[in-house]
Amino acid sequence: MTATPEGALEQAALAGIHRFAIPTPFAVGRVNCYLIEDEPLTLVDTGPNSGKALDELTGRLAERGHELADLELIIVTHQHIDHLGLVEILVEHSGAEVAALGVAAERLAAFDEDAEREDEFAVEVMLRNGIPEDVTVALRSVSRSFRGWGSHVAVTRPLEDGGTLELGSRSLEVLHRPGHSPSDTIFWDVERRILIAADHLLPHISSNPLIARPLDGSSRRTQALVTYIESLRATREMPIEIVLPGHGEPITDHVALIDSRMAGYERRKEKIYRRIVEQPRTGYEIAQALWGNVAVTQAFLTLSEVIGHADLRVNEGRVREVDDEGVVRYEAT
Ligand SMILES: [Zn+2]
Repeated sequence: MTATPEGALEQAALAGIHRFAIPTPFAVGRVNCYLIEDEPLTLVDTGPNSGKALDELTGRLAERGHELADLELIIVTHQHIDHLGLVEILVEHSGAEVAALGVAAERLAAFDEDAEREDEFAVEVMLRNGIPEDVTVALRSVSRSFRGWGSHVAVTRPLEDGGTLELGSRSLEVLHRPGHSPSDTIFWDVERRILIAADHLLPHISSNPLIARPLDGSSRRTQALVTYIESLRATREMPIEIVLPGHGEPITDHVALIDSRMAGYERRKEKIYRRIVEQPRTGYEIAQALWGNVAVTQAFLTLSEVIGHADLRVNEGRVREVDDEGVVRYEAT
């Protein structure tokens, strides 16, 4: 039985899985990549596209007696740049195969165009939900400035939800768990009861269910929080001993953590609903009422939170969206 995060890391290491916490320039801090010493030699996620990340990754591999050139398989857990930015460089050095969810492959391959389209989409969503135009312009340029930390990804081993990834001494069940992003994929070692979860479940922060375009590229937005809650429910039922997350320390009681996240969503749903009952408001107005200035500097993030929780009420039939000349107001039914 593994009670502590340190014990969990040791247990994972005994199973040949080693955590490398790689630096990122983002507020989230370091990103966890996992080296699986098996056949083939496998790296789960790479860290962002930066010299600093590459240096640290190279150093950590060297500590384990490996070089970049030894990597044979790279697994990409989802579409966010802090997780995949070094893929292209690592493949150049190693010729490694790249495994990722097949339905995401096309978009991963077209990273630049796709990022541009995702930004356009985000601007549309923000304007529609009452965020002032100057704020959207500022956020878009921030997003553009981040793009260099990403990379396009040429997937050579497309994975399927429910499929298995066979390594020499283990099978990893591949499970699609969208919500935090549309492409979130987790890897389940049934035998060892270890789950590599990336950002699907994080210990210290609740994974932001960011509003995004669906994987098929259509322009309708996802109901990210609704989807995420479904994904969490499925993960809650798994007999997991250790969750290895994409940021922070291992999780040894996923049920308690998921239950506390669910309770948090319920509370926030009520809070947002009360604001809507008071008077019809845009998503931006609700975000400002709840978070003040953070609703400006982190406009897309806070808006994603509001829309996600409002979606829950919309689906319950207690809130509706009223379109007023292109701007949406939430109204109690
Ligand atoms: Zn992420």
